[in-house]
Amino acid sequence: MSSNTVNVRGHGTRRKDFAAQTAHKLATKHGLVVVEDLRTKNMTRSAKGSASAPGKNVLQKAGLNRAILDKGWGRLLLALEQAARYHGATIVKVNPAYTSQRCSRCSLIDANSRKSQAEFACTGCGYRDNADVNAAKNILAAGLAVTGRGDPAVRRSAKRQPPDRLAA
Ligand SMILES: [Zn+2]
Repeated sequence: MSSNTVNVRGHGTRRKDFAAQTAHKLATKHGLVVVEDLRTKNMTRSAKGSASAPGKNVLQKAGLNRAILDKGWGRLLLALEQAARYHGATIVKVNPAYTSQRCSRCSLIDANSRKSQAEFACTGCGYRDNADVNAAKNILAAGLAVTGRGDPAVRRSAKRQPPDRLAA
């Protein structure tokens, strides 16, 4: 690819460039990229469908949907899949359930371990980490388990799921 243009015509264009550039960087620097399978469209649809009877969860979900859509997650994923095909990287999508509540060291799942948006402190083993970093470790471990690239200990603790490979 020779296109290396930074286009600043509008917000939408900039976001598209951000997605393309991020995807290119990830696909060329890493042979394997593990992402949470957030199924953006389904989540948006389900939140809209239940908006007539709004509850706490619905509002939370709507907020989450907004955040995902704002960040252009779907667009990034699409760009990532294209870049991975082109560069021969593997994209693995893993189940996002409990990735933020699970301890990446002892595998204990406890909502109370998530002290705040930014802080993770395991109620079982006392492991502390940035909440996003802890979640990312869980996501990577799950992805490695799916591809069989993880070590046996990781493979045992992470739930196996069918691979969802988008690029060979
Ligand atoms: Zn722990």
